[in-house]
Order: sequence, then structure tokens, then C-alpha cells
Amino acid sequence: MKHARSALIILMVLCMVTVTLTGCKPTPSKPEINTDWKPNATGADVSSDSLFVTKVDNLSDDFIMGMDASCVPALEASGVKYYDYDGQQKDVYEILAQNGINYIRVRVWNDPFDANGNGYGGGNCNIENAVAIGKRATAQGMKLLVNFHYSDFWADPAKQMVPKAWKSMNIDDKAEALYQYTKDCLQKLVDAGVDVGMVQVGNETNGAMCGESSSELGGWKRITQLMSAGARAVREVCPHALVAVHFANPEKATNYESYGKNLQYYGVDYDVFASSYYPFWHGTLDNLANVLNNIATTYGKKVMIAETSYAFTADDTDFSGNTIGEGGGIVKDYPFTLQGQANLVRDVIDTAANQIKDCIGVFYWEGTWISVGGESYEQNLALWEKHGSGWASSYAAEYDPDDAGKWYGGCAVDNQAFFDADGKALESLKVFSLVRKGNTVDNRADAIEDVNLIIDLNGDIVLPDKVNAIMLDNSKQQLDVQWTNVDIDAMKNGGVAKYTIEGMAGGMRALCYVSMVEYNFLTNWSFEEGKTGWTATAIGSFNELMVEDKVTDSMTGTKHYHFWGATANTVEFTLEQQVNDLKSGKYNYAISIMGGDGGATEIYAYVKINGEIVHRADTQITVYNEWHTATINGIEYNEGDTIVVGIYVKCAGPNAWGKIDDALLNSVKE
Ligand code: CA
Repeated sequence: MKHARSALIILMVLCMVTVTLTGCKPTPSKPEINTDWKPNATGADVSSDSLFVTKVDNLSDDFIMGMDASCVPALEASGVKYYDYDGQQKDVYEILAQNGINYIRVRVWNDPFDANGNGYGGGNCNIENAVAIGKRATAQGMKLLVNFHYSDFWADPAKQMVPKAWKSMNIDDKAEALYQYTKDCLQKLVDAGVDVGMVQVGNETNGAMCGESSSELGGWKRITQLMSAGARAVREVCPHALVAVHFANPEKATNYESYGKNLQYYGVDYDVFASSYYPFWHGTLDNLANVLNNIATTYGKKVMIAETSYAFTADDTDFSGNTIGEGGGIVKDYPFTLQGQANLVRDVIDTAANQIKDCIGVFYWEGTWISVGGESYEQNLALWEKHGSGWASSYAAEYDPDDAGKWYGGCAVDNQAFFDADGKALESLKVFSLVRKGNTVDNRADAIEDVNLIIDLNGDIVLPDKVNAIMLDNSKQQLDVQWTNVDIDAMKNGGVAKYTIEGMAGGMRALCYVSMVEYNFLTNWSFEEGKTGWTATAIGSFNELMVEDKVTDSMTGTKHYHFWGATANTVEFTLEQQVNDLKSGKYNYAISIMGGDGGATEIYAYVKINGEIVHRADTQITVYNEWHTATINGIEYNEGDTIVVGIYVKCAGPNAWGKIDDALLNSVKE
């Protein structure tokens, strides 16, 4: 993960299996893994009088409570200092260890610098950076997960760019270079006395890695050749370390199945199948458990959550927008509070420890990446450019012109860190130790759930008198609410508009988002849900009458009702919907049609009240893509009557065809 823009592009990733799985090559026997590691930092003496943490059962001493903390040196060069709860300045890795973190993850880029030595940003994370971090982590009794991206900058599902130095190499030379590079890097760590516990060969390698892609013929063969080269280097230099592969998007379960099959088929020597899990993108925890259980069971591998994170506030602190936060369109399962952040982490750990077979731990992503502390965008930009402490600097443009080169800037996850903008540890950091024993405080409201209302312009405006409070333990309770800045008359007369209404509930701010709309009382008005709500009745014996999924023939969305009759004088049908629970009042109805080859036609929209057609509006079909909308205004409706709206179509021409879409029944102001 890195920033908002790439996150969106994740959805576009190609993940195709291009091989036919006809047999299995034997997997090389693997060396003994040192499993008797006992971390000396479990945060046993951590306590909290404000954080509610439900104990997670079955946590072994060596369950990995990991933290990716790759940007720290660049931040410190920019002036950042870290402080413990009592305001005492400390090495941030010591603070992490004291709070139960027992493993540090660090990303490694081959050469994140331009020809003049200017860093691309994101921490300028080369191997020297990893050595510096590894020494500090080892000094605190923590192990290091070395995360090779095998790129000069960010590698993720949206991009897996080959390092500059390897650009023109064929696959065999590239694999050899990767092997040597991995060996050299690991040797530097070993020589520095770093306790390397695990090595990742590639980052979020969803069917692509180091310039190779599975969307091209033989892609998986080349990708796995590179992974195997990396794994071989790990076995030689760090024989006690685990080899991990890493993928993202567990919500696409079939992708994970294909990754597992390809790794097996091409005999990649690995120990841990790791997955990212960002709750706002990656589906449910239950799904994550299913997907990883399949891998663990099918291939006998350890599994792991290599990245997760959550926001403790919607606010940005460094003048560079955040991946999630206010207005981000994120569906929240947890409030953006310290307790919400802690609860998400707790639930991920619980799932890992109790729902997933052979899951060895959880790493939080960049919980130490905070603002560089300037008082303006310009001040911060100068620091990001000089020290590489933002997600990308302008110098990255030469390597990644389309993304970093355009959108370079600061930190996109400062609201997901475990330190505030001044570098002081947040209470939520304690969750990593408190999950081992649980921590009970008086349960109280922690946040108020936002209310979202869609109200008909011509209907009554009624705001709820209760709202959901999200409690410290993530349960919900209803609280009375007082709305403060509401002007119902102005909303009634304001036409189509959106309003944000503020209120107070239990001493906390409540928000109600109201959309005043021209409400459509029809179900499935654009046929996107297929036939739902609609009844089609063929009167003649023609060929086709069905919902069609074809965006180019739809007025809205991708679906519409389609008809076609090869023989003359056969097309005749009705398509209608009964509308229930309508209030007494005046309504307008409209429906649209396009088509051709109709010959003599009789086509009309109609309204039936209690079985009788009481309104009718004639229309026609002409040529492709010329939509005609039949409109009936001023329909009087009394509650209790049965109302049906529809369209009647009769065509004389051979090969008559057409498409029906966008039906609307809306109220009229009296
Ligand atoms: Ca930011």
C-alpha cells in the first residue's frame, strides 16, 4: 500500500493464469526453521485506563505482533522525534518494543535515487536504510522482516516496475541479478548483526513482479523463476529465516487459488503465504480467513497478514491528503477513533490467531509514518523533497512519470499511525500488548454513527430522534439526539440538494447527511437488477423479450429490457410494475424506448388504477440510439387503490427490435 491513487488502481490489476496445470514439480526440501524464538518484548507491564480491549485467546508468545516502520530514518532526518506516553523522547523502536511489538518490517528498494543522488521519497528505502533500522530493531529484541520490492520504488498490485539497472536484461540474467542482489543485501544485514527472521521475495505480487506480468505468455514461469532466485539467496545467507511470498486483494478468492497453484506448479521454495488486509478495500475478515485457510490447508504453508491499518482520525496533519478519512467514501465498520483503530487491530489479530490455520502473525503498515511537522504545505514539501519523507518526491518522475511524477507529496497515512503529529505515542498502540491479557474499562459511547437519509422532495422531512452510538467494545446503543442547525422549511423549498445537519447525542457530535431528491418510487427503475419488480407479458409469438446486459444499448447503467421479432406482425407485449405502499398524492410517470424496423407501431406508456387504464401516452421507435420518452403527468392516486405503470408495444415490421430503459415515477408538489 502507499497512497490513495494507487489504491484505486488496485482494482484494475490483471491476474490471469496463463499456464495449464498439468502436473506438479517436486518442491525442494527446505532447511530447518528456527522456531524456538522467544521474543523478549511482549509489553507485559502495559496498562490503560481508557482503552477497552477484549482478550484474544490462544496467542502464543511467538505470535508475530509486527510493525512496518520503514520511513523512520527519513522522518528523523526531517526533524521528527518520537515520545513515550509520559512525553519522554525515546528511540521509536524502543517505544514499539515496550508496547508488545516483536517484529519490524522494512521495505527495500534497489536504487530509489536519481542520477544526481536525489531520493524518490517514501523513505528512500534502500538496503542501507534497512540495515540502520534492523540494527535498532535487533537492539530491542525484535526480529526483522526484510521486504524486497525488487523495484527502484513502490511495487504494489498497480505496478511492478523493473529496477533501472536490470531493465534490458533477459529473464535468466534478471534472475541471476536478483539472486546476487538478495544475497548481497542479506549479507550486509547479517554482517551488521541484524536478527533477520523473515524475508519477503516481492511485494503484493498479484500476477506481476519486477517488470514481468502474468498477462503475457509465460509470465508466471518468469515471475516464479525470480521468486525462486530470491528464495535460494535467503536459504544460503539466512538459513534460519522464513521465506515469504506476498499478495493483495484477498477479496478475490479465485486469484489467491491461482497464486497458490502457480507457486506449487513452478516449485517455489517458500514458507509463508502472506496477504495484505485493508478492511476498507479487502472484504470481510471471515473471507480473509477462508482464503488463507484454503492456502494453508492445500499447500501446508504458514500464512500471515503482512499489512493492515486503520485510521484513528479523519483529519489530515501534514497538508497532503490521506488514503482514507473524511469524505473518502469508505464504508466504516469501526469509527475513526483511537478505540476504533484499536478494535480493528484486535479483531484482525483475533481472526489470525483463532480463525486461520497456521497463521503466524499480523504486521501493521507504517504505524510510525507521521507528519514532518511543518506549518504549511510548502514547509513540508521542502522536507519531503530533501529527505524523501513524503510518499514520493518530484525526483521520482524520471522513474514513475505517470503516478509519482504527477502526484508526489507527503504522507497519506498519518491518520493511521500510532503516534500523533507531534510524535507522541497514541493510546491505541497499547492494543498489541493488551490483547494478550484483555483490558476492561467502563463501557461508554466512543462515537456516533452518521445518519444518511434520502428524502423525496415532495414528501415529509422527518429526522430520526435517536442515533446509534458505537461503544468502546464496538457494540451499538441508541441515544437521543438533538439536531441543532436544521431548517425544515428551507429544505422543503430548496429543491434537489444535499444538507449536513449537526446534532448532539450523549455529549458527542452527531451528523445527519440528507439528500433531497426527486425520488423514484419504482423498484429497479433501470433494470440493473434484472427483472426484479417487473412483469413482462408476451402477447404475440416473437423471438426475444428479456433483460439484456449491454452498456452501449442502455440509457442508464449496463442493462435494459430488449425485444426482437423476426416475423412481421408478431411483436406485441406489455412490461409493467405494480407500485406498493404509495402515499395519496399526485405523481408523474415516464419510460423510455429506442429501436427500429417497427413498421406500423402502436407503443404507449400507461397507468392502470384498479385494473383500468386511466392514462396513456403514445410514443414510437425510430433508429438506433434515438431514445423516446413517454411522459404521463398529474396522476391522482389515493391510498388503497392498486396502481400499475407500464409500457405496451406492438410492431408490424419484420425484424422489429427495441430497448426499454429508465422508468420514473415521482411525486408532484401539490
Ligand atoms: Ca496526510
